[in-house]
Amino acid sequence: MDAVFPENIYCICCGDSIDPSVKSGLCARCAEIMPWALDNPFHSYMDEFAFDDVLPCVRYGSYARRIMNGLKNGGQSYMAKNVGRMLAERLQLSWDMPDLLAAVPSHKSKLRKRGYNQAELLAEAAAGILKLPYQKGLLIKTRATGSMRMADGRTRRSMLEDSFAADPRYADLLHGRHVCLVDDVVTTGSTADACARVLKAAGAAKVSVLCFGASSGTRKSLSDGGEDAIF
Ligand SMILES: [Zn+2]
Repeated sequence: MDAVFPENIYCICCGDSIDPSVKSGLCARCAEIMPWALDNPFHSYMDEFAFDDVLPCVRYGSYARRIMNGLKNGGQSYMAKNVGRMLAERLQLSWDMPDLLAAVPSHKSKLRKRGYNQAELLAEAAAGILKLPYQKGLLIKTRATGSMRMADGRTRRSMLEDSFAADPRYADLLHGRHVCLVDDVVTTGSTADACARVLKAAGAAKVSVLCFGASSGTRKSLSDGGEDAIF
């Protein structure tokens, strides 16, 4: 794939040629128009979630979707490095650095189909840059959940219940630790929440969620009976 997507020659968003010294892999125009959004979009209803913080790079929309589609559809080795670097830089802006990184897992049936899990590639790339430990396989997706695209937050939560587990082999790693959970995109927060619950039940003291794109936080609180308004 490195032959098809040579590193830092083409912009990871629009495909234009770029100056190879640009570490983000974005051309000047895309870097300018990218909706950088470093704030936690869930900050006003954090009490509904098991995670303690959300650290996004951009607001999830057409630009983030284009980059994530590239990451999922063939550009993985090239783009994971660039997006992983953006995640590493985002994490460096945080005042509380984690003890280790973990990725939101894919179910093995999905992994068989795609061949890789993009969250794992991003976590591995970011951990390498930050020289932080990354434990592959710390979380396991115990059952496939199917598409949740049209499901609201409440439905997603029940679909995700009991679908993640922490591998007991890594119990010592988690005890009292601050875990940084990596995913490509966080929309309703339901998946990250389910993973954070499992990590905390297994002994983690704090869970921060690091992602490339996060929704703009237009979702109404679940306690207001609201539904996600992000699609
Ligand atoms: Zn571009």
